[in-house]
Amino acid sequence: MNFKALCQATILSIVIAGPAVASAVKQTKGDFEDKFRQLEEVLPTPNDYRNAAGEPGKEYWQQQVDYKINVKLDEKKRRLSASQTITYKNNSPYTLKYIWLQLEQNRFKPDSIAERSGDFGGIGRRGPASSKASGNTPAKVSIGELRRQQYYADNTIGYDITKVTDKRGNKLKITITGAQARIDLAEALEPGDDFVFNIDFAYNILEENAVSARSGFEHFPDDANEGGNDIFLLAQWFPRVAAFSDYEAWHNKEFLGRGEFTLEFGDYDVSMTVPADHIVSSTGVLDNPSSVLTKTQRKRLEQAKTAKRPVMIVTAQEALENEKAGTTKTKTWRFKAENVRDFAWASSRKFMWDAKGYKQGGKEQPFVMAMSFFPKEGGELWSKYSTESVIHTLDVYSRYTFDYPYPTAISVNGPVGGMEYPMISFNGPRTTRHEDGSRTYTLAEKQFLIGVVIHEVGHNYFPMIVNSDERQWTWMDEGLNSFLDGVAGREWDPTIPWGVEPRDITSYMKSNVQVPVMTQSDSVLRLGPNAYTKPAAALNILREVIMGRDLFDFAFKEYAVRWKNKRPTPSDFFRTMEEASGMDLDWFWNGWFYTTDHVDISLDKVYKLRLDTKNPDIDFDRRRQEEANKPGTLFLERNEAEGVKTWVELNPDVSDFHDKNDRWTVTNKERNKYNEMLNKLKPWERTALERAVAEDKNYYVMDFTNVGGLVMPILLEMTYTDGTKESLHIPAEIWRRAPKNVSKLIVTEKGKELASVVVDPLWQTADTDVENNHYPRQIIESRIEAFKKEKSKAMKSRDIMHDIKTELKEVKPKVYKK
Ligand SMILES: [Zn+2]
Repeated sequence: MNFKALCQATILSIVIAGPAVASAVKQTKGDFEDKFRQLEEVLPTPNDYRNAAGEPGKEYWQQQVDYKINVKLDEKKRRLSASQTITYKNNSPYTLKYIWLQLEQNRFKPDSIAERSGDFGGIGRRGPASSKASGNTPAKVSIGELRRQQYYADNTIGYDITKVTDKRGNKLKITITGAQARIDLAEALEPGDDFVFNIDFAYNILEENAVSARSGFEHFPDDANEGGNDIFLLAQWFPRVAAFSDYEAWHNKEFLGRGEFTLEFGDYDVSMTVPADHIVSSTGVLDNPSSVLTKTQRKRLEQAKTAKRPVMIVTAQEALENEKAGTTKTKTWRFKAENVRDFAWASSRKFMWDAKGYKQGGKEQPFVMAMSFFPKEGGELWSKYSTESVIHTLDVYSRYTFDYPYPTAISVNGPVGGMEYPMISFNGPRTTRHEDGSRTYTLAEKQFLIGVVIHEVGHNYFPMIVNSDERQWTWMDEGLNSFLDGVAGREWDPTIPWGVEPRDITSYMKSNVQVPVMTQSDSVLRLGPNAYTKPAAALNILREVIMGRDLFDFAFKEYAVRWKNKRPTPSDFFRTMEEASGMDLDWFWNGWFYTTDHVDISLDKVYKLRLDTKNPDIDFDRRRQEEANKPGTLFLERNEAEGVKTWVELNPDVSDFHDKNDRWTVTNKERNKYNEMLNKLKPWERTALERAVAEDKNYYVMDFTNVGGLVMPILLEMTYTDGTKESLHIPAEIWRRAPKNVSKLIVTEKGKELASVVVDPLWQTADTDVENNHYPRQIIESRIEAFKKEKSKAMKSRDIMHDIKTELKEVKPKVYKK
């Protein structure tokens, strides 16, 4: 519509009468914030490597890094030593003069940035809880933190790199800076060329329970009568080549302990020499089963392929025998993995092992072997649920993304609470042993096990296959994965709290301690809600409320498939979701990912309006009624009660025209004006007016305030006086010109009267204050607790006169049962 037509169209404006309705736009110049501003201004410019649709571009490339590693586990010294040969394939269009390595074991050395930049009691410090001393209250340091400090003092930590050579054996210059190293190439590496080099290294394996490291050993002192055994979880264990990408070049941002790992895809050939009675679990496929497994174990593995429930490959009894025996002999296990972006493994003589085949179908990987490795401490909790949870994960995740591309999927119990690597994951929950030797687990431990296995196995999809940069954007793997683990989890058992519902994020979103989701991992305050729950809840809302399942699922799958075995960035995700769904979601990414705004929509007022007929014989009488309906004044009421008579009442013989008429008396002057107005109307205008007057509908105007700042759809539930209910979904775009206050007109038939209105009655939008969602407001139910006043501190001081008589109790010996 052009401007002239717009003016014409507004000539006939009908007055809807009622109390003064505030104008819709309640903002002042300079106060306006464009919540719908297009993200193109913020996102990187599309190019031939990643295009405007959010797809890999026509010139997309990524590097490939293959590893051949021979590694030896010295159980007694708890030390790994290895030789590795790395083949680096430069698929980029650039010439490289050096190669960067990630040396994550060095992150625990005193001279790493991670250690030197640790702040006392800072938010995000894993382990110690502390606060500054104030008055008589001392500052606090956890005993766990004391243990960590003592562990650092007592042990040599970090890599011992003994040799770096090219394939001819010529020494290469290596420069180690903290948890990274640069290897200078004698000759520049041209596009399309390979560079092969060797690194010999060793390091002392960290004790995971002393230093939270996502890997390490765990000692079982309770096994003293059985030799005192360890579980070794080996991850971030070899010097790994840093990623090199089209948008960041070398991803050489040092590991600070939070932002995890992004690496290149490659093929691995790893031989692990371990004590002969150890069972090894690893990324990849066992290449030499006949030399490390017994005939019986191999037979059981065959049975497991088609079994209904997991089959024990190493039974509890066999694991117990291994634990007791001990050995000085070694065995070498060889695993090969193709097209994975990392490689982890586990080794212990404590391991039981169960397996069950999963027939996935499809062309790429029709059969997957799901397996679990756990000590007796895992017990029935593990034998019942671990491997089944692995299969459930593959089943659900593949529906929303792509077929699982690897031949194995593994869950290993050890000291790490939950951590993911390609094909293999480490999961912590265990049973508790009682005096009579029995083992039990709580409901919470059961829920934790199922939840953590689904989550960590789910990480195969994000970020192991959809290879986002965890060091920069934790939400890209944790958020997407938490969203999908919530989908899978609720398909397993919806009574388990999955923490992905909109209501799970409201208190965090209202809190002051937060940063936008789009914040580099190490700078995030409260990583859990920021990188897991908030993006997961956001995607949940996007799916269920804003896009609908059809559009969302199509777009989400498109993202997963486009970036399978490739390296997406946040913009690729944002763009794909919009491109594939046909929806402008920039306002959503803006609000949920780039700000700390929260959702709080208040329904402030509801007006009921009636259309003026313009006919003075009708409208004047209505005005007269409105006046009469207003309450009288207290003064007059009391005068009346006291029997005070007015002059007019006392002198009825004196009256005139004005006593018989009021200001609403209609004259022909008004009637003529009305008739003139009718005569001037075009036929269609008169028809429209007369019809509207005849229908006499109810015009409800609702005033909303966006208290939280985040623009969202307004979900209305309207209840009418006849008991019927109606739902209305007002798209978020209603806020586009007035992000702070909007009004909405709802028209109902005559007689269809609105009784009450609720915004978001089912708590689907993460509205942080649901009290202001009701119109009329509701009484808020809550609790009050009686308490006994405590004695003052001075009165509670030590009664030494009495306490001196106390009997001394012994300190328990230092043994404990797991
Ligand atoms: Zn995770």
